[in-house]
Amino acid sequence: MAIDSKKFSESVERVLHADFGCDYESAGARELYNAVSKAVMVQAFDAWNEGRNSQKKRCCYFSAEFLMGRSIYANLLNLDCLEAAKKALEKVGHSLNDFEEVEDAALGNGGLGRLAACYLESAATMGIPLDGYGIRYRYGLFRQTFVDGYQHEEGDDWLKWGDPWSVKCERDAVIVEFADQKVKAVPYDMPVFGYRNGVVNNLRLWSSEPVQEFDFNAFNEMKGDRTALENFNATKICDVLYPNDNTMVGKILRLRQQYFLVSASLQDILRKYKAQGKKLKDLDKSYCFQLNDTHPVIAIPELLRLLKKEGMEFEEAFGVCSKVFNFTNHTIMAEALEKWDALALSDLLPEVYEEIVACQHRLESEGLDTDKYYIIRDNVIHMANLAIYVAAKVNGVAEIHTNILKTDVFKNWYELYPKKFVNVTNGITPRRWLLLNNPETAALIDKYIGEAWHTDLKELRNLRPHIPEMLPDFKRIKGENKKKLAAYIAEHEGVNIPPEFCFDVQVKRLHEYKRQMLNALSILYFYFGIKDGTVKDFPPTAFIFGAKAAPGYYNAKAIIKFINEIARLVNEDGEVSKVMRVVFVQNYNVSYAEKIVCAADVSEQISMAGMEASGTGNMKFMLNGTVTLGTLDGANVEICEEAGRENNCIFGATVEEVAAIKQFYCPREFVEQDPALKRAVNTLIDGTFSDDAGMLQKLYDSLINGHDPDRYLVCFDFRSYVEAKEGLLHSYGTDEFYTKCLENLCAAGKFSADRSVTDYARHIWKIK
Ligand SMILES: *Cc1c(COP(=O)(O)O)cnc(C)c1O
Repeated sequence: MAIDSKKFSESVERVLHADFGCDYESAGARELYNAVSKAVMVQAFDAWNEGRNSQKKRCCYFSAEFLMGRSIYANLLNLDCLEAAKKALEKVGHSLNDFEEVEDAALGNGGLGRLAACYLESAATMGIPLDGYGIRYRYGLFRQTFVDGYQHEEGDDWLKWGDPWSVKCERDAVIVEFADQKVKAVPYDMPVFGYRNGVVNNLRLWSSEPVQEFDFNAFNEMKGDRTALENFNATKICDVLYPNDNTMVGKILRLRQQYFLVSASLQDILRKYKAQGKKLKDLDKSYCFQLNDTHPVIAIPELLRLLKKEGMEFEEAFGVCSKVFNFTNHTIMAEALEKWDALALSDLLPEVYEEIVACQHRLESEGLDTDKYYIIRDNVIHMANLAIYVAAKVNGVAEIHTNILKTDVFKNWYELYPKKFVNVTNGITPRRWLLLNNPETAALIDKYIGEAWHTDLKELRNLRPHIPEMLPDFKRIKGENKKKLAAYIAEHEGVNIPPEFCFDVQVKRLHEYKRQMLNALSILYFYFGIKDGTVKDFPPTAFIFGAKAAPGYYNAKAIIKFINEIARLVNEDGEVSKVMRVVFVQNYNVSYAEKIVCAADVSEQISMAGMEASGTGNMKFMLNGTVTLGTLDGANVEICEEAGRENNCIFGATVEEVAAIKQFYCPREFVEQDPALKRAVNTLIDGTFSDDAGMLQKLYDSLINGHDPDRYLVCFDFRSYVEAKEGLLHSYGTDEFYTKCLENLCAAGKFSADRSVTDYARHIWKIK
């Protein structure tokens, strides 16, 4: 299977000649990156085309986000070209590391977008025909820097080094129409390689272009000419990814993006389908559509509209839709469940709106209680309700989350359609998240149990008997990974963390429900405790954070400032810095995550119970041999089931307890009764930290004063958290600790995205 390095080297050279007019001598890193990538593309073309032209039933994964990260290393790994590429580059005085400067394709915010990327890779590896459909944002998730501890955002020019992994398919362009605008949707296709199995699936990302060539003169003169303005606006649709994670912002441009994505995709799919001479009423025999959260749910009325344009009656079109669409819910937070103003939507998409109204009428005609069951109410369109009403299957993303959907958030709907609701616990691809990011540990595993685990992660169980003999090598490799991360952090963040310290890591989007605040307060608790002698023999620990805050999310940005101030206080303290360091890394993204998860000792997964639907960061850490310090939330629950609760460190209120506590909760009382907590919380207002913007005061208010203070029970869980954490940190470095790490690694099989996509294929897509 593996290509030999001489042949590989020759094909790279041909691309250098043809595309860049240079040779190995004169090529720079950028030319080499493009040439290596294109050489792979040339080699993979036949297999890719086979998938794209196949007539077997396929599932289309509709998602506003695909957080792909870097493609080059993962693609070389999957095609077994990593060694050949390495040798070819070394021969000419370059190295694969030169491509470390290639920008991530960050066309997503966080977990939901990364999940989509993992599923594409796993489906290709499992031979499941799954294609992605998304938007080719010109700028992905913003690049983050800190200035005086405050977050700053810059545009993310992810195409800076070119985009050799995509091919523009002008011939498949379609027109997407809004009430006020017509735009051309042009697809860019990206191959998705299965792991050494010859399968290539496809990710199709749509870009918007003017229908006609842009006419500058007409635009300048304006002439009351609509097409000039239309053309100007066309490109805007795909300009930038909305940087909100788990919050709904009712901006019309966002609705334009969503409709643009689904209309282009469905037109494209129907055109191809009809060209095969098949009947529209049988669409479900060839396709199904997975809606990744509510963002692409407008696909439902759009397909109704398109089928009716083809002459189908509403009822029959509805029947088709109820077979082809499936819906994944990712959150129970009210502020994230999409709702659109009915007037705004009907202004922008009148025909689509009519179909939504028709769905509402159909629902009413069933004689159900209209207080419980509605799509449109008080001129607001509830996208999740539309999805649940029409879709064949609705799934949550972890056991606990699906149970909350059934018993709480969508209780009414579950009573009406119990068979629609299924669980598919999220997963991660073990290729990127172990083989690629932690090759030494992967090789160690191979040594004991062979390579079957690469595509059958449950095989890791076979490692368990070898844990005692593996300990020394596992420790050594983790130590090396920690040294590398420490060097990287020193270079990029200017903070030194001693590699022998325990690495206690919380990396994920910044959100109040994820409770970075709880972690921050615990660090202050330890800090003051060390200073006044109440915390004795503190085990040397580096607290590592990484997180982006949505630019409009005030409290999230305030928490970043708070933690950066804590970091300065701790790191500049001559005494405490001997046993404690704090660093908040800038611009946390997929490539940073790859470096961090293989070097972590403790994985912080401390959301308020019931709030984190699944989490996938927790799985990455587990697979790399890390102990979870967490609440019984999301997939943490299943991690404990698989690895044993005794091998992790669980604290805090459970979902049931949270509901009870909320009845009487008063955070001010908790703070008054706990002097150590009070001291930590008061740093927000007592002048310990500089904060010209006054953000910390407001953070204090949201915790103690105001309406619904401390929504996420930070003060309530504080004591149980610091006790659990102190105990865990004290065990760091012992054989017992590393045994726990390895017990987790051995039990990570369930969390392979290979298992997740197989579950989807069997129970939802009904393919293979
Ligand atoms: C995996 C991943 C996430 C999701 O992390 P959670 O802890 O599950 O929220 C977010 N961002 C990046 C860059 C990731 O790789």
